[in-house]
Amino acid sequence: MRGYELQRSKRKTVSVIIRDGALTVRAPLKTPRAAIDKFVESKEAWIADKLARHAETALALKDVADCKAVLLYGGTYPIAFSDAVKKIELRPESLAVPFKLAANGKNSDNAALKRALGRWLKNTAAAELSRRLDDVSVRCAIPYAGFKLTNAKTKWGSCDNKGVIRLNWRLIMTEPFLTDYVIIHELCHTLYHNHSSKFWAEVAKLIPNYKSVRSLLKRRSAITMLYR
Ligand SMILES: [Zn+2]
Repeated sequence: MRGYELQRSKRKTVSVIIRDGALTVRAPLKTPRAAIDKFVESKEAWIADKLARHAETALALKDVADCKAVLLYGGTYPIAFSDAVKKIELRPESLAVPFKLAANGKNSDNAALKRALGRWLKNTAAAELSRRLDDVSVRCAIPYAGFKLTNAKTKWGSCDNKGVIRLNWRLIMTEPFLTDYVIIHELCHTLYHNHSSKFWAEVAKLIPNYKSVRSLLKRRSAITMLYR
């Protein structure tokens, strides 16, 4: 039997949730433990799938932290050291990195490689995010006054009262639809400088399923810690 955290409350049904790789079961106050166990067992395939996916994401993040791969547009590109390239180059299946940036031996620190990868990603972000912001602004017919790239610790984006939009360069690592959500969120702030119901109504007009997109973005928060 799989282990789980049990939360009992005045609810009517049993439900299982998985957050950050941990399984929690919510149950009514009086449901017998055996019945709860049986319910959890019936969900085993779904639970196993969810937990495996979490492990996969965690693995990708570890590879990125260890400079064995980069995340770009929500995909993982393994790093391939090469004598044939003079500068970092994106290929369909990998990121070609000049051999001179390869760390020598197991224990050498890969600070130089990490810096180079961070710089490359940031440059890619500068071009790509500004292009995307332009596209989305035109598509939504919401203009903005200016664009800046940020290195913010936790925020993905912001919009000041002059209509200047700031985007975290690490957005380049997430799926494009998540980037679009952040851009649309900030564009809507040029209309409403708050999180009022009018603001969210504007967001919903442009992204009807914004709530699920937003919760997925929250699960990508570990990305904001990369290349620090
Ligand atoms: Zn906001």
